[in-house]
Amino acid sequence: MSDILEGLNESQKEAVLYFSSPLLVLAGAGSGKTRVITHKIMFLNKELGIPVNRILAITFTNKAAKEMKERVVNALNLEEEPQWITTFHSLSAKILRYEAENIGYGKDFVIYDEEDSKKLIKDIVEESNLDKDLYKPDRVKNIISQIKQNLDESVLDFYAMQLPHIKAIYQKYQEGLIFSNAMDFDDLLLNVVKLFTENEDIKQKWQNKFDYILVDEYQDTNKIQHQILKLLVGNRDCITVVGDPQQCIYTWRGAHPENILSFEEDFPNTKIIKLERNYRSTQKILEAANKVISHSKGRWKEKVLKLWTDKNKGEDLKLVKLESDKQEAAFIAYQIKELIKQGYKYSDIAVLMRMSFLSRNIEEAFVRMSIPYQIIAGLKFYERAEIKDILAYLRFAFNPKDTQAFKRIINLPSRGIGKSTLNKIQKSYVEDWYQALKDSYETLSKKVKYNLQTFFEVIDFIKKYGNEKPAETAKYLYDSIDYEEYLISKYPKDYEDRIANVQELFTAFEEIEKRGKTLQEFLEETSLEQAQDNIEDSNSVKVMTVHASKGLEYPVVFIAGVEDGIFPSGRAFEDVEQMEEERRLFYVAITRAKEHVYLTLAKYRSSFGNSFNETKPSRFIKDIKEYLKVLSSKPKKKTDNSLSATSTNTGIRVGSLVKHEVFGKGVVKELKPPKAKVIFEKVGEKELLTKFLKAI
Ligand code: ATP
Ligand code: MG
Repeated sequence: MSDILEGLNESQKEAVLYFSSPLLVLAGAGSGKTRVITHKIMFLNKELGIPVNRILAITFTNKAAKEMKERVVNALNLEEEPQWITTFHSLSAKILRYEAENIGYGKDFVIYDEEDSKKLIKDIVEESNLDKDLYKPDRVKNIISQIKQNLDESVLDFYAMQLPHIKAIYQKYQEGLIFSNAMDFDDLLLNVVKLFTENEDIKQKWQNKFDYILVDEYQDTNKIQHQILKLLVGNRDCITVVGDPQQCIYTWRGAHPENILSFEEDFPNTKIIKLERNYRSTQKILEAANKVISHSKGRWKEKVLKLWTDKNKGEDLKLVKLESDKQEAAFIAYQIKELIKQGYKYSDIAVLMRMSFLSRNIEEAFVRMSIPYQIIAGLKFYERAEIKDILAYLRFAFNPKDTQAFKRIINLPSRGIGKSTLNKIQKSYVEDWYQALKDSYETLSKKVKYNLQTFFEVIDFIKKYGNEKPAETAKYLYDSIDYEEYLISKYPKDYEDRIANVQELFTAFEEIEKRGKTLQEFLEETSLEQAQDNIEDSNSVKVMTVHASKGLEYPVVFIAGVEDGIFPSGRAFEDVEQMEEERRLFYVAITRAKEHVYLTLAKYRSSFGNSFNETKPSRFIKDIKEYLKVLSSKPKKKTDNSLSATSTNTGIRVGSLVKHEVFGKGVVKELKPPKAKVIFEKVGEKELLTKFLKAI
């Protein structure tokens, strides 16, 4: 039999070989669901002769798509990357790039990320003179997303009781997007549904493009994604989805564990295959995970088989109770050092947490103990201000209707364009902002006119060369607008980091030039970036939220902050559904581990502000107490120092403003514990021990 089927167990093989009707593979964590998808793609190609580019495989993250592509390319010896192993959002963006004109958008439409969308909402609230505290962009954006994701405008009526103007804002928001030839993330999906339902022939065309469709992490798809699948499959049988309702953790984005069960209703004659063998975790870890989920109330529970493994029993999960959050972080750092002594690599280890603010203490402890780490959450590369500035210029050149990009760059660097000048420009608006600038040009002041010359030159240059020579174009832009000067004056504390980030962007541009990608394709990718995409291959400990850990696995997993109010989140106390989701999150967290799980908690934590609060252990702990060993939190003598919560250096990071007795004020440029490189205001750069520095 085909070597593609080697390395699969009987049920997995059955799933790969099944083509007679739609297939749903329902199974718990680590049972090889993702592996089934990857092998089925290979099988379709190698044994059935279906070209890889006629196979659509949808993963939850870009990172998962990338890994799947790599496996397929290697196994099949492909010369080129398969085009259609992708996420729902990238798939939709690609489809719309071809078809946008059929639903009233220009094909150079831009994708608004969260920040762009929130800025648009902020503008609307301001222009409509509404209460800024009531109509916070975050909140309004969430509501709008909910409406779009649930395909249900009645949600609006519900919110209108507290926010009477929400309907009007929603409407203006949509108009604003269309005005800018922009779509937000939710629109990408919605517009595909619209496109296919309104244009039978286009739907047919895309149906005919794909001979087979596979979906990973099906439990976290929402109604609209489900609809896209239905439209693409039509009344054919060519679909396999895999999922685990126990791992449904995105209900806030419209997913629901029950949705997976309705797959059978929408795709008639669905065959269900269950996997029951776990290949990832030791017995104890698996049993603890099974126990956590056994307390779930979902009706889907019986549908998933309990997992077994023939791996060794393994060690108990460890529970470590520390006095304070600082000591918790210090313990994790200390324990990691111990694991390294035992032969683990830093990259074998992940620290997971329910809430990203917990990473702050952990980061400090890692710096102190010289542990290489990477924080996966936090600001994503393409969300950084300096990167967005440069990208906004590029975006604007291609889509001069883009209002948010226009507003971002028109006075960056300062060209003396304030509100009144903007009003004048706006009066001339007919088609787009570029033309409006040209048309209003004569009415503007001499100074503004002068300053705008470079602006026009830069935009024209980008239009001309941007797609073919993105790196050169970006460098030209950088020099022409004196962007470095701008960064130095605007961000005196950390301009160096920011300049380095822009350099990194240039490198990325050089790369796309080499790979023959266009700048516009690149811009699209960047706007769909997710936290996981940044995970480096480097030998470092990965620190991330449980949400970001989806689909990943590590030999050692620490779960920090296992306290009521954090994990489960306090918001879940009054809400049964939410508590169920927290439980599923806990299941996801534990099942990332292959060999060791450490649960840590702090008796006192300074969260949400500065005061220390006494905490309570997480209610989930007692569910798994028979698999837990409580470790003593008393640090060994010789490490007392590193475990002390009162290091004089807490709070010092790259970019921190510090004071030194002799050299005076400075900014930390680089941390190389126990030393730091600091640029002092008066004496320039010095390398010295951090203990002589005080954060100010
Ligand atoms: P999750 O629910 O976390 O997404 P999953 O069900 O997708 O997990 P995979 O990630 O596909 O599971 O597999 C888990 C681990 O088990 C991987 O390291 C994979 O290589 C391994 N594995 C899966 N099937 C087999 C098999 N038949 N033989 C050996 N190893 C396997
Ligand atoms: Mg998986």
